[in-house]
Amino acid sequence: MAGNSPCASCKLLRRRCAKDCIFAPYFPSDDPQKFALVHKVFGASNVSKMLQELPVHQRADAVSSLVYEAHARVRDPVYGCVGAISYLQNQVSELQMQLAVAQAEILCIQMQHEPVMPNPEMEDPDQKSYLLQNELPHEYLNYASSSNVIYDSLSRESIFGHDMVS
Ligand SMILES: [Zn+2]
Repeated sequence: MAGNSPCASCKLLRRRCAKDCIFAPYFPSDDPQKFALVHKVFGASNVSKMLQELPVHQRADAVSSLVYEAHARVRDPVYGCVGAISYLQNQVSELQMQLAVAQAEILCIQMQHEPVMPNPEMEDPDQKSYLLQNELPHEYLNYASSSNVIYDSLSRESIFGHDMVS
């Protein structure tokens, strides 16, 4: 970019591009559409005010945010970028729900398989009788059908919880 060619903003606004032009670093003359869009949606003086209120190191981010929002506003005049945000938020909560369901399913499956694996290390006859006593929950679980897995797991939890207390 030549030193004395005006930035895209000053070209559009038909004014002299000063050395310290606040737009010049972010709206180069080779991309006139970028400023035209931001100017159309926010107005050049508002953009200038916003940039002046920011520390220099945040201005580039602010400009890309303004450009994004201006694009969204032109595409969707009613909702602008709020449309994209709420679409993504809906997706997030849908996925969180799916995740919660999947985690509940994993928990149910784990609870069905967890407690009754015979432990080969238990050779002691006393401990074998302990195992026999603990077959009741296993038998109980074998009747669990897939449709009432959650109910069965919950009742098993309450049975176990009760055992621990008493
Ligand atoms: Zn300028």
